[in-house]
Amino acid sequence: MDKSFQEERFTGITTFTPPLYKQRYQFIKDLVGKYKPKKVADLGCADCTLLQMLKFCSCIEVLAGLDICASVMKDKMHRLSPLPGDYLQPAERSLTITLHHGSVAHKDPCMLGFDLVTCIELIEHLEQSELKKFPEVVFGFMAPSIVVISTPNSEFNPLLPGVTLFRHPDHKFEWNRAQFQSWALEAARRYDYSVEFTGVGHPPTGIENVGFCTQIGVFLRKYPQASEPVQSEKPTEAVYKTVFKAVYPSLKDEKYLQNAVVSEVIFTAQIIKQSLLDHLMSENEGYNHASAERKSKFRPSMNCFSEDLGKLIVEKSIEPFVNGNVVYIPLKTVFSFPKVNRLCGTFEKLYKLIAGKVTLSSDGSALMFNIEHENEEY
Ligand code: SAM
Repeated sequence: MDKSFQEERFTGITTFTPPLYKQRYQFIKDLVGKYKPKKVADLGCADCTLLQMLKFCSCIEVLAGLDICASVMKDKMHRLSPLPGDYLQPAERSLTITLHHGSVAHKDPCMLGFDLVTCIELIEHLEQSELKKFPEVVFGFMAPSIVVISTPNSEFNPLLPGVTLFRHPDHKFEWNRAQFQSWALEAARRYDYSVEFTGVGHPPTGIENVGFCTQIGVFLRKYPQASEPVQSEKPTEAVYKTVFKAVYPSLKDEKYLQNAVVSEVIFTAQIIKQSLLDHLMSENEGYNHASAERKSKFRPSMNCFSEDLGKLIVEKSIEPFVNGNVVYIPLKTVFSFPKVNRLCGTFEKLYKLIAGKVTLSSDGSALMFNIEHENEEY
């Protein structure tokens, strides 16, 4: 709601390009790029726009949103669900996104263990009683490595047409820089964080002394978190209600890894097989597809493979060959191709993942393709 309000009013003397809310989100994205947090929670996430942007940051494995208004979250939370493409090509990282309904004035164990907690344009919406509890909940209880808090800088308000008292009717207060900095420094001191002040939304030339339109505090925890929270300090009772949860398909999940490996193995083996057959065709004039003419084993040189696949160097002894109507593609050859190699890590893992999913020779060393009917015309 804040963002539309600001865009509406920023049509007078002061306009921002990109819009101010986008600059705030970009600030967070840049911070994620810098610190590479794995677990990020957005407090006061509203319609989940920031979360939706952050889900594309490849370092993030856990994303959580919290808001006191369930309906605003539910409105667009479908944007956080995996897309068909996520299933077709599962990512290497795992990603779980959860939305919780609750207040930042309450502690819930689901908010423990985060690396980065963002509070974008949230604190000015808190009642006095909530604001009082907020530092203990965020810095004391959640205690992430990094906290980012943004809030309007009231010194900028005279430059915003139509703003008399506050920028939004739901704001309970708007602070100038000295007020925000004194509150932030006190929270940082009490909970062992350092804090740096910055902002987005540059003031117009000549009146830079009003500061940024949005003021931002970036808090960094000074000491590593104690390994285990003291039980008495950390309540185990959940008070938030989970309203959304999406677990993205990932190659970390054996089920998706197996599908990806089997597809890649078959794809790679088919290319090897085709290269081999093309090579045989060109080398043996008069070659035809009658099986009788292919009774003897033929071991062509490895250089008949497409270089496009960027194969690793393999031994001569693991070259593919044709025997009768069957093409044998040694598993070691397939394993030497970078993509298969990267997906499986070890030859044993490759073997384990494809066992029962592809046809292997009796000793299990090669993939078998029967080509008897391959070139038949119907
Ligand atoms: N962070 C979002 C952004 O930058 O686009 C939305 C900010 S919006 C101005 C403030 C949000 O804080 C609203 O969605 C509101 O429901 C939520 N909020 C207000 N009080 C809250 C509380 N006590 N606990 C959690 N969320 C709260």
